[in-house]
Amino acid sequence: MKISGEVLTGEGDYGIDPEVIRQIAQEIKEMKNLGVEVAIVIGGGNIFRGIAASAKGMDRASADYMGMLATVMNGLALQDALEKINVYTRVQTAIEMREIAEPYIRRRAIRHLEKGRVVIFVGGTGNPYFTTDTTASLRAMEIGAEVILKGTKVDGIYDADPILNKQAKKYNELTYIEVLKKQLKVMDATAISLCMDYRIPIIVFNLKKRGNIKRVILGERVGTKVRG
Ligand code: UDP
Repeated sequence: MKISGEVLTGEGDYGIDPEVIRQIAQEIKEMKNLGVEVAIVIGGGNIFRGIAASAKGMDRASADYMGMLATVMNGLALQDALEKINVYTRVQTAIEMREIAEPYIRRRAIRHLEKGRVVIFVGGTGNPYFTTDTTASLRAMEIGAEVILKGTKVDGIYDADPILNKQAKKYNELTYIEVLKKQLKVMDATAISLCMDYRIPIIVFNLKKRGNIKRVILGERVGTKVRG
């Protein structure tokens, strides 16, 4: 599951809302209780976005490293919330910081999943110029995930921004190529094309609606499905 940083902000548009993160943790627990192995890639846009800082004159690579560090903070907040409700977790980071989290080791991540732990991947891919959406596609392939669930603030993929445009139309299903051709702003092109090449379906849904994660797992038609 990919959780965008912006989902963690609650009513404000910056930082982490403890109530929101508690709710998300609760839903992850319910999903796990259905017998699903869960790995999470968390974004950092609620704290720092490399591209925004570079637009204001900062070196892009340095700004992106700061963005990657922001994802570590979010990951630790989610770990804390999950462990408070007795969900065992491991945080694995793409940038080594041994005192805080395990380094990313693919086989180890898979072992954690087998043991029923929720694995939280932080630090993005570890490379500047990438996004955490691309990280989600990459990690999904590496661990052999069946699906990527992308939790956002809106109900799915629309033909225009539904927050700015009330006439925007929601898609129930799309192919990868349609997403790329229509330049829909759901995941960046690198993330989508990775999923396309390896046929990993993506379900985009509103993470803020209570019970939605469970509905998605149980196969209900929620949000928008992107597939081959
Ligand atoms: N980032 C990066 N490489 C990665 C993943 C993330 O450089 O592999 C940086 C980038 O600056 C990005 C920031 O981390 O703006 C936060 O990630 P992202 O914008 O993907 O978070 P989200 O939009 O999901 O909150």
